[in-house]
Amino acid sequence: MTALLQLSGIRAAHEGITVLHGVDLSVAAGQVVALLGPNGAGKTTTLRVAAGVHPAASGRLVMGGRDVTGVGPQDLARAGVCLIPEGRGIFPNLSVRDNLLMMTFTGRSREEIEEVAFARFPILAERASQAAGTLSGGEQQMLALARGLATDPAVLLLDELSMGLAPLVVANLYEQVAEIARQGVAVLVVEQFAAAVLGIADHAAVLVRGRIERQGRPDSGFRTDLSALYLGSP
Ligand code: ATP
Repeated sequence: MTALLQLSGIRAAHEGITVLHGVDLSVAAGQVVALLGPNGAGKTTTLRVAAGVHPAASGRLVMGGRDVTGVGPQDLARAGVCLIPEGRGIFPNLSVRDNLLMMTFTGRSREEIEEVAFARFPILAERASQAAGTLSGGEQQMLALARGLATDPAVLLLDELSMGLAPLVVANLYEQVAEIARQGVAVLVVEQFAAAVLGIADHAAVLVRGRIERQGRPDSGFRTDLSALYLGSP
């Protein structure tokens, strides 16, 4: 499959300390790629580099065959890259409807945005006038995804979707993510806890201390290696 988004040899630093030491990763349209790894491995930084929010110290970012290394977040967003950060990025004091309404900056009409959001997540229609902060954790994550979908993304970058949610809720969310990918979106998912996302991932990579230690299809061999890497073997 041709990569829609490709990171090659990405190095990145925080306050002079290198945290990514040459990350290679690619995601094709229609594919879900899981980026796994322990706390502090550099998963969020990788997503932030992919969204143009954090600069790469070296390496290349290519999207749709075009070199977009050094391109800023607004331009990458315009090119179809959508980052849904950990913590969901919704406005808790605004209603569900107003959270969606804000996305009309994309040029899409309110009706269109609501139609897409409510078709995928019918519960949001029921909760439309409720303050977003009063939704359950899973519903808040649905709202964050719905806001992301309003940008009509080509590439969706999801950070710790499962954070703080019950396993069944996470499984349902990932079914929706798989469905979004099936419609042609390239999805890169960061998770610390692997089980949830491996069920839907086409490809997975394990990042340990800023290096991809293993990548491939998330089959049983991969899962065995994954446990070893998490336990800190060489
Ligand atoms: P987590 O699951 O805890 O978010 P992660 O794998 O996403 O971990 P990153 O958040 O990318 O990892 O962090 C990678 C490294 O960079 C860590 O050592 C972290 O302490 C450091 N780091 C992250 N953000 C900053 C920052 N703003 N300033 C300084 N160091 C940072």
